[in-house]
Amino acid sequence: MPDHHARRVRRDQAVHAAVVQGLLDPEETPVAAFVDLAGIADSARELLAAWPDRVDVLHAFAAKANPLVPVLALLRGHGLGCEVSSPGELAQARAAGFPAERLVLDSPAKSRRELVDALSGGIALNIDNFEELERVERLVAAGLPARRVGVRINPQVGIGSIEAMSTAGPTTKFGIALADPGNRERLLRVYAARPWLRWVHVHVGSQGIPLELNAEGVAEAVAFAREVNAVRPGQVEGIDVGGGLPVDFTRDEDTPTFADHVAALREAAPELFSGAFKVVTEYGRSVMAKNGFIASRVEYTKYTGGRAIALTHAGAQVAARTVFAPDAWPLRVLAYDRHGLPSTAELEVQDVAGPCCFAGDLTARERKLPKLETEDVVVVPDTGAYYFSSPFQYNSLPMPPVFGFEVSGGSGSGTGSGSGSGSEADSVTFRVLRAAESLDEVVARSGTL
Ligand SMILES: *Cc1c(COP(=O)(O)O)cnc(C)c1O
Repeated sequence: MPDHHARRVRRDQAVHAAVVQGLLDPEETPVAAFVDLAGIADSARELLAAWPDRVDVLHAFAAKANPLVPVLALLRGHGLGCEVSSPGELAQARAAGFPAERLVLDSPAKSRRELVDALSGGIALNIDNFEELERVERLVAAGLPARRVGVRINPQVGIGSIEAMSTAGPTTKFGIALADPGNRERLLRVYAARPWLRWVHVHVGSQGIPLELNAEGVAEAVAFAREVNAVRPGQVEGIDVGGGLPVDFTRDEDTPTFADHVAALREAAPELFSGAFKVVTEYGRSVMAKNGFIASRVEYTKYTGGRAIALTHAGAQVAARTVFAPDAWPLRVLAYDRHGLPSTAELEVQDVAGPCCFAGDLTARERKLPKLETEDVVVVPDTGAYYFSSPFQYNSLPMPPVFGFEVSGGSGSGTGSGSGSGSEADSVTFRVLRAAESLDEVVARSGTL
């Protein structure tokens, strides 16, 4: 079982230590992001333990969830691979030291150059559509090796609670739609004529997809692979089951767990566990979301029309999804005092606003929280995936620094949440994973005269 309590205690210790050690200086660094390095190790361990040893499985972390090179390098060190979807992500994964055999390239719009790079480098590749298939075929005919090439199917099993995150709807843009008239037969002929097509890929969606729907999509991929293999035994050697294990943003617990996902897959697609197929997974959010948080000082507070508003430095530039689609992507906001200790102020209904110049730049609306005061610290937890690691450049706000932290001396066994002394603050060590962007760098990315 994952230790949520220990992770929460580490978070409290890190917030306090960050304040004591000057990492959240109101003048110099009013906003910063933090990554729980022990939490990453725990998550990787749970993921590896959830899959039975019998199955030859590569867990290819979806780089888009957190493409920071030191984070990718840590995950590599913990035994994971990496799934990339663009030349930039591939460059980041290479910089993090992933060897070709632990990389997987997916993308619905791979250029010819990306395909040549992947094939010649021996990187696994999943084809999205029939036109891409022809393009890859020409490259293979021209002599490029096809070491691990698959096709992404769209099992068309339906959408989840967030349409934009659902990739197996009847008209979704990804993959070859298996249930469209004629497609299944056409794809079976395609595999039969191309023995180098040895994988089947499916990814049912990210967040908002029930486990059963995810598993139903994977079962479709397995069924298709078995159909190919019925005619040409052993041709399909592996199933890439994608990612999409949802994260509960309302509390610290990890639910569902990797083991819950494996149980759902076992139920829907037992052949996946027979040892007959290799497996690739592409978990992203579930590996990193709970291992990162954003912290910001409160710069000002005010009342407008009776509404208490706290103005902070954490808004759309670090939490774009939540700000633009607050109903789909609610986040918790936690209140700490100016010393970085959990706030004990009286509860009040407040808006927590970011620094961007548009009215909707709020991380929380009408939320009952301890009354925030200037220089207090607000923490936005569960933001280790898809938040500060993919910043938005609006208002030319610089990217905040990202610090990895470790707590020495038995993390989680201390005096409980946050009643930290100075010496406790010394037991937290930070290292820079991404330096704060300077204003010179902001100007440098703003075009040339
Ligand atoms: C985004 C994505 C993932 C990761 O999804 P999570 O919800 O972060 O687990 C995996 N595979 C593909 C193809 C993706 O597009």
